[in-house]
Amino acid sequence: MLRNCSALSRFEPMEKILNYINGALLAPISNEFIDNINPSTGEVYSYCPDSDERDVALAYDAAAAAFPAWSNMSVNERSNILLKISRLIEERNDELALAESIDQGKPLWLAKLGEIPRAKSNIHFFATAIEHFASESHAMGNHAINYTLRTPIGVVGCISPWNLPLYLFTWKIAPALASGNCVVAKPSEVTPMTAYLFSKICIDAGLPQGVLNIVHGLGPKVGSAMVAHEKITAISFTGGTKTGAEIARIAAPMFKKLSLELGGKNPNIVFADCDFEKTVKESVRASFTNQGEICLCGSRIYIERSIYEKFKIEFVAQVKALTIGDPLHESTKVGAIVSKLHFDKVLSYVSIAKEEGGNILTGGKAYKPEGNCANGYFIEPTVIEGLGSECRTNQEEIFGPLVTLQPFDTEQEVLEMANSTPYGLACILFTENLSKAHRVAANIKSGIVWVNCWLLRDLRTPFGGVKQSGVGREGGWEALKFFTETKNVCIKI
Ligand code: NDP
Repeated sequence: MLRNCSALSRFEPMEKILNYINGALLAPISNEFIDNINPSTGEVYSYCPDSDERDVALAYDAAAAAFPAWSNMSVNERSNILLKISRLIEERNDELALAESIDQGKPLWLAKLGEIPRAKSNIHFFATAIEHFASESHAMGNHAINYTLRTPIGVVGCISPWNLPLYLFTWKIAPALASGNCVVAKPSEVTPMTAYLFSKICIDAGLPQGVLNIVHGLGPKVGSAMVAHEKITAISFTGGTKTGAEIARIAAPMFKKLSLELGGKNPNIVFADCDFEKTVKESVRASFTNQGEICLCGSRIYIERSIYEKFKIEFVAQVKALTIGDPLHESTKVGAIVSKLHFDKVLSYVSIAKEEGGNILTGGKAYKPEGNCANGYFIEPTVIEGLGSECRTNQEEIFGPLVTLQPFDTEQEVLEMANSTPYGLACILFTENLSKAHRVAANIKSGIVWVNCWLLRDLRTPFGGVKQSGVGREGGWEALKFFTETKNVCIKI
């Protein structure tokens, strides 16, 4: 619901989030704000700017003005400023984690131990990586030498989603800034708080004004204004496949550089020769961490028939034991779904699964905790069996605490099932047979394969998906290459 800023006085002192443009914290030009809801209580707790193309234009102008000095600054100087930002994230870890948990619904301990430390690592990683980023040279005998230049693009756009807010926001901004670009960035309007706190960190760290500009607001207003802006010539986007297609449609005729990290429907393949106990435990983690709201979660679990019943019994028992409720409690394993809209979407898939003939083994309904979270958006972790590969439940991205179990008989059969969706982001497989692991990994159509683990990340590795899960790769040199223009210089000797 949109509210006029002037109507906000009775809600004070609830915080109004502000844009970060040209080094200053500013209200949007419209002076309109959007309610920001705490999903674990269902209550409005702050207000997010409802910015529009005028704020984007202001942000672009600031970034363009800052570009000559930032791109010409020595790499070492740029790196030092970014390292200061990463140190401030570390110092404010607990404050950021609490904000992320309240804004997104994830358990506080997860934000404290996982997400915010990773945001710090993102900045630290690219602040140091840029000092080692070299380009190639190709000698043509004694006739000529070629060398490659990789120079910053100019003003780039970064658009991120709500599921891992600061983690994914910094994953884009860090390589863009490290390689000498100035940035106009938009976090999700559903989870704007840590991006706002991050803008204060940038001010405290002495990031020169205009180098990073954060414009808050709705995707179809702020995001699309960024994509349509003719001088923002590269867009790095993480979000849903449908939004990615819309961005590509607008950006392609303008020949913008695009990196699209999109949705997933990841298979989790369990062979009978796996280490059973570790596999069940890791499969529960891969299914329900962050309420299943991670693009890399495994949502289709394929189990070799000879251990299907045994796996099902143990998996369901462990899922039933997960504590749901107040994200701020230490014992909580499954927090709140990010918004009412998404809560309704996930529950609608429970109805679809039932219509398709699915058998709910556990969960399948909303959960109402006692106390101050009684009106929050909680869904019981849900496990469904009895559905084939081609049904909607097994083809469409649900992005919540809902997984299906399916038995398989042969390696060939499970490969066909695993590869049957339009997505191809990640695959998880469990086997103690090394040759089988290599074979399956080679034949799975996805950008990432984890064997006997999940979400084990090395920031140097290429990250991204195939098919409708995206175009391009993030991570390590891939990200630095995306955020630079490549030029070959050939000199005849
Ligand atoms: P959306 O695609 O709805 O939104 C992503 C971002 O794009 C948000 O900031 C959103 O703003 C903005 N946006 C929305 N419409 C437009 C538009 N027309 N032009 C430009 N920007 C726009 O995704 P969600 O936020 O719902 O995130 C969930 C999705 O993200 C899932 O599909 C998930 O798989 C995917 N994802 C992929 C990852 C990967 O690495 N491949 C990682 C994490 C998530 P607003 O929120 O205001 O609408």
